[in-house]
Amino acid sequence: MQNSNFQNFYSIPRENLVHRCREAGLPEVHATTLFRAAYKSLMAEPWKAENLPKVARAKLAYDLDVRLPGATKILVSRYDRSVKFLFELQDGSLVETVLMPERQRITLCVSSQVGCGQACTFCHTGRMGLLRNLDAGEIVGQLVSANMWIANNSDWLGALGLPQKQRVTNIVFMGMGEPLDNVNAVADAITIMTDPFGPGLALRRISVSTAGHLDGLTQLLNLHPDVRIALSLHSPIESERSKIMPINRRWPLGMVLEALREAPTQKNHGILIQYTLINGVNDSLRHAEELVRVTSGLKVKINLIPLNEIDPSRFTSPAATAVEEFRDFLHKSGLRVMVRYSKGQDIAAACGQLVIAETDLALRKTLQ
Ligand code: SF4
Repeated sequence: MQNSNFQNFYSIPRENLVHRCREAGLPEVHATTLFRAAYKSLMAEPWKAENLPKVARAKLAYDLDVRLPGATKILVSRYDRSVKFLFELQDGSLVETVLMPERQRITLCVSSQVGCGQACTFCHTGRMGLLRNLDAGEIVGQLVSANMWIANNSDWLGALGLPQKQRVTNIVFMGMGEPLDNVNAVADAITIMTDPFGPGLALRRISVSTAGHLDGLTQLLNLHPDVRIALSLHSPIESERSKIMPINRRWPLGMVLEALREAPTQKNHGILIQYTLINGVNDSLRHAEELVRVTSGLKVKINLIPLNEIDPSRFTSPAATAVEEFRDFLHKSGLRVMVRYSKGQDIAAACGQLVIAETDLALRKTLQ
């Protein structure tokens, strides 16, 4: 067992490893070697890379912890081959991560917190409350563990018609948690994920979802101005939004949209708007009209997501006709709109379903 003085390797940006090399009187290239071994070759112990001299190994790796989140449960959807991982972190916390294949892309939906403190009334994760933030290494670790799983499951790639070397191509921060409530760790994780000697993902292939955390948004866009932003909007009417999304009382939608209007990412990529349609709550034509009004002047793409019913006593899915009318109204108003049905519905991997179930907690107990 390693002690707490060890630093999680996956939380260290390459620049910091370069700094370690300098301090140890070693060539800086060893930082690149470690990064390549960990993220490109997916070596569980990157300091065992052949081209890393023994002296560098000893000086760089003595206090690094390379343990990854361990999958205690893996479910593969029979319908769309989405994969849901239940990962156990070093302190025993559990988080969920979902792999979503679509054509040539493999998108990984990562968690940024254990639970979520925003308490949106229709969201299953919100009911857990916030247990703690993840650190950057625990976020990057989800990517590395998922890539290792893909590398070991060639039949999964084969069934999708993807090449054997294919790994995760896109990241969405849409798992458990409000990412911008944990913005430092999320920003560091993005720095590591986009390192060309590490996972090497293009920044435009990373989307960060937010319920409208304005302080975090400002901070993230200062560090990564071109990262894609997905705004969970869910109601265009301030008073109604405040009822289903308490965050709106602190940062009203109008303020958040104003900030996005000025953001370079909005001008370059546009903003993805996530809109969960809930029967009788936000699915009327009046809501559609307001949605058109509040997003005017913004480059947006709207994803309409019919509610994934998890507690029918409180909220129910919209009627198919209501979804069609809502979509058609937006479309006729000149907006780019798509109806998205959540992936992995048979494995509870869909939006708003990421929650650690009682059965998962029981499973963990049996593994202890
Ligand atoms: S919708 Fe997002 S921000 Fe709201 S409670 Fe759920 S996970 Fe948190």
